[in-house]
Amino acid sequence: MKLRCLVLATMITGFAIGTPGQQSAAPEIVTALRAGHVVDVENGRVLEKQVILLRGKKITAIGSDVKIPAGAMVVDLSTKTVLPGLIDCHTHLADGAQKENADPTSQLKKTASQVVLESAVNARVTLESGFTTVRDAGVYRALNDVALRDAINKGYIVGPRMFVAGAYITITGGAGAMTGYAPDIKLPWDLHYGEANSPWEVRQKVRLLAHDGVDQIKVLSTGAVLTHGSNPNSLEFTPEELQAAVDEARNFGLRVMVHAHATAGIKNAIRAGAASIEHAELIDDEAIALAKDHGTYLDMDIYDEECIQGESRPEDFLEHDRGLAEAQRRNFAKAVKAGVKMAFGTDSGVCPYEYSVRQFAFMVKYGMTPMQAIQSATIEAATLIGKPEQFGSIHAGKFADLIAVDGDPIADIRQLEHVTFVMKEAWPTNNRFEPIEPILLRLGRQRAFLQQRKRARCRGAPRRRWRLERWTYRKKNVG
Ligand SMILES: [Zn+2]
Repeated sequence: MKLRCLVLATMITGFAIGTPGQQSAAPEIVTALRAGHVVDVENGRVLEKQVILLRGKKITAIGSDVKIPAGAMVVDLSTKTVLPGLIDCHTHLADGAQKENADPTSQLKKTASQVVLESAVNARVTLESGFTTVRDAGVYRALNDVALRDAINKGYIVGPRMFVAGAYITITGGAGAMTGYAPDIKLPWDLHYGEANSPWEVRQKVRLLAHDGVDQIKVLSTGAVLTHGSNPNSLEFTPEELQAAVDEARNFGLRVMVHAHATAGIKNAIRAGAASIEHAELIDDEAIALAKDHGTYLDMDIYDEECIQGESRPEDFLEHDRGLAEAQRRNFAKAVKAGVKMAFGTDSGVCPYEYSVRQFAFMVKYGMTPMQAIQSATIEAATLIGKPEQFGSIHAGKFADLIAVDGDPIADIRQLEHVTFVMKEAWPTNNRFEPIEPILLRLGRQRAFLQQRKRARCRGAPRRRWRLERWTYRKKNVG
């Protein structure tokens, strides 16, 4: 009897319910998805009746005549349109509760741990709404984004694959600085980690951040809308400082994303070799031509205005913002028409995280075809991040990052506001999506629960504890 209990306990050790590492340690199982339609973003077309075969975390085949191996788990998406997982190239997932961030000085009321724990929700919501990858554009509390990225990668929490910047590289008192507090208050190191005021200081910050394990560098070329004592029309970093950032980042194999509202700041950043210009409200014809020549991506957050003006923001922020939204939407249309490379970036955190998908409809309204809007958030975004061989389209060898919608997103782009299936690295994301959700996982959990119960029996646990276990199981998996 005792021996039987020991064997059982050993089995359970490797098969616990919801253990950390579960997400990253997906077993090498074979899954076949039967898709009614598939958006082929590489060729700009929609394919019918496809089978997508997955092994472990990767896609191994896609086609109409792919044979489903015996024993494969089959997921029926035959009434749905399947797309690659979405990618948002400008998020702020690690700044804590979105509702409390209308004014950045709210960061001064919280510890870094508090902020990063609140951020776990932002990550989950972002993934559940269809974004399997994000390029995060900086944090007030330096390296909170690194912590969030790593916790997701280790499977401690659920969220999209994150590429992070670690901190804002900004002038003192500039667009990415913590401002709006009395000058005699001393900030902790992590609230001014990225401040730099010369090309050599910029290089030093890039070196520090590279050492800290960031994935890209975020530099602020001009003033900002949502910063006290800043002005979106002012130039902050000089061309020499921007050049130092790009050169130094290149030494570490990192790309640079540059925040810029004012026209001259946009041009300086393009000439310095930025990978992308963020916001780019006041881009003019010359800067559009420059971006095209240099192959610079534009990340224009043309939806979040709905939230800046719609929520209670400090008066100075609304003043900064005046006129910028119309200019940005007008210039977005111009840039699309000119054929500049465009990536999908929302500045999420300005709006609630679940609203990011609403930007697609705005991109179509202001000149993109639905296919272009989808490409900007898939293959184009993956190219900007520098990993198109890993994700961004449904292709053999890439990660099984897949989403599905019930209708046709090419006919009605707003279908993307109602994603009904999300899979990241072949791992179905959430309990909300019945009945597609993880038949296999559920069975696994059930088995683990039953084994735990047997183990409890072995120990002669009282009946009351079993009831508690059953309740915990139901709450985790049903309620
Ligand atoms: Zn931003």
